Amino acid sequence: MKIVMLGAPGAGKGTQAKMIAQKYGIPHISTGDIFRANIKDGTKLGMEAKQYMDQGLLVPDELTVRILLDRVSNEDCKDGYVLDGFPRTIPQAEVLDEALVKLGDKIDFAINVDVPDENIIKRMSGRRACPGCGATYHTEHIPPKTEGICDVCGAALVLRDDDRPETVKNRLEVYYAQTQPLIAFYTEKGVMRTVDGTVPMEDVFAAITKILA
Ligand code: AMP
Repeated sequence: MKIVMLGAPGAGKGTQAKMIAQKYGIPHISTGDIFRANIKDGTKLGMEAKQYMDQGLLVPDELTVRILLDRVSNEDCKDGYVLDGFPRTIPQAEVLDEALVKLGDKIDFAINVDVPDENIIKRMSGRRACPGCGATYHTEHIPPKTEGICDVCGAALVLRDDDRPETVKNRLEVYYAQTQPLIAFYTEKGVMRTVDGTVPMEDVFAAITKILA
């Protein structure tokens, strides 16, 4: 099963993507995580991506697409995957589509986690991430057991550079201009499904599993 997660930054699609991956035993692929791992390791790719990420801008399609196609060609992706944060532009979606068509394959579902604009900024300012293991939290919705400390590895949680308020504004503008058109793209392909992202995360997940069942 090949799934694309859509939704504004802060809609909770990453959390849902991880839950889907666990339940269905398929890899969770986040281009944002791949970029952050490269930044942490100080790679050339990481240094290039960071310039864009820190401003809330998208990393250029050419670079992003190369990384994604390389990742999905791995053996662990042969039975499917859940993409989180990719595609983010129509050209990215087209390249993915073409690559899948060549393999006689396609995206089975695009799931839009729908959250109204007014909730988004509030949500993003509460996001916290673990620099150690990549786990994500929210001060209100998914608090760690001990404030400021990762449940999984015990590292001190941080507000990611790209979740800072000034960057959030840019990310939202980028989302509406470049990513939201993907809803029409996948609607046309007949695979678009929307879930209400304002309800508790277990209920969002229940709605998603109903779609995937
Ligand atoms: P995320 O963790 O998905 O919110 O991604 C964090 C940042 O990484 C984004 O704000 C972009 O700068 C960059 N990024 C992640 N995925 C993509 C993508 N598919 N295309 C372009 N930039 C991306």
